[in-house]
Amino acid sequence: MKNIIVQKFGGSSVANIDRIKIVARRIIASKKKDNHLVVVVSALGDTTDELENLAHKITNTPAEREMDMLMSTGEQISSALLAMAIKTLGSDAISFTGSQVGIKTNKSHTKARIETIDCHCIKKALKENKIVIVAGYQGITEDNDITTLGRGGSDLTAVALAYSLKAKVCEIYTDVKGIYTTDPRKVKQAKKIKQITFEEMLEMASLGAQVMQARSIEVAKRFNIPIHVRSSFSKEEGTMIVKQTDKLEDIAVRGITSNSSEAKITIRAVPDQAGIAAKIFTEISKAGSNVDLIVQNVSQTKHTDISFTVPKKDLTKALKASRAVAKKIKAGDVLHDDNIARVSIVGSGMRSHHGIAASMFEVLAKNKINIDMISTSEISISCIIEKKHEAKAVEVLHKTFKLN
Ligand code: ASP
Ligand code: MG
Repeated sequence: MKNIIVQKFGGSSVANIDRIKIVARRIIASKKKDNHLVVVVSALGDTTDELENLAHKITNTPAEREMDMLMSTGEQISSALLAMAIKTLGSDAISFTGSQVGIKTNKSHTKARIETIDCHCIKKALKENKIVIVAGYQGITEDNDITTLGRGGSDLTAVALAYSLKAKVCEIYTDVKGIYTTDPRKVKQAKKIKQITFEEMLEMASLGAQVMQARSIEVAKRFNIPIHVRSSFSKEEGTMIVKQTDKLEDIAVRGITSNSSEAKITIRAVPDQAGIAAKIFTEISKAGSNVDLIVQNVSQTKHTDISFTVPKKDLTKALKASRAVAKKIKAGDVLHDDNIARVSIVGSGMRSHHGIAASMFEVLAKNKINIDMISTSEISISCIIEKKHEAKAVEVLHKTFKLN
């Protein structure tokens, strides 16, 4: 039996016709006698953003079902063009939409979850020795409604297909050469990482590293599907995402991320009583906003301040809910600040190394960067700081933890 390899090409790899032709050549070159190729493709360049903008020219609250009808078309275009490019070069290929390859999802439009994949038609095409091209980021409900899998969802399509088809490896082709110690577009000392664990990658993706969709790594981790992240424009090996790296000695910090996609809300003088936090966060969740980092101060006066962060895009609705609930529970003012950034250090080695947090706080202090909020997980430490210090913080942390 031939090995199946799943390859995914991101939007920047197929941004225009010339790049599609380059990708087509690359796909043909990796199609050997002893393998089958299934290729997942994202929409051309910024198509998905452009489609979203079109919708917002009509209404700020487009129906989510119609949004999915619209947004899923980007990948249908790129998959067809890629199949044509491959055929023009003399190899056989066939493109399919998510629904055609039987990617069944739940009904959560714009962020649907994959429930089952019936790989029947992919297997049939592979048997006919065709290169199979699948439009990423989409599926279909049991009622035949088209859904999308959340932004960056082509990664999820690729990982899920790799699992269902028992692929040997899942290769993610992108515009950088792999996973870096920090964003190479922002810090030139960033180094490519050879191997990283699923849990570290998941943490980095959730904390702002933009190479892969976090949900896709969750699936890869659950089913132990090795992922090779590499460049579409270079033959160089990229980064392997695996269960366990082969380094004998763990390094403490594997990478540094930062993002400024959150805003902070503070509710002043909240009565310090049982059940109050539950009331606040139930209301905010009902308003449809996620909440991340939460800090509640110790109270000496029977009142306390509660601060938390929300995604910037949810700020308006979260503020509205916070003001309403503050009034109800007789708390004080509600303040907000969207001029913040989160810088995080990530590494499984933190479990066994001491003093990592202290070093982080010390170097930020030395550079006169004030820490506003702190949160930790088993393998990461995040600080909320003023946005204007974001780049500097990443740079000094990168150096302190010897990632240069
Ligand atoms: N085109 C979709 C997006 O931009 C899906 C993807 O690129 O993975 O989010
Ligand atoms: Mg994209």
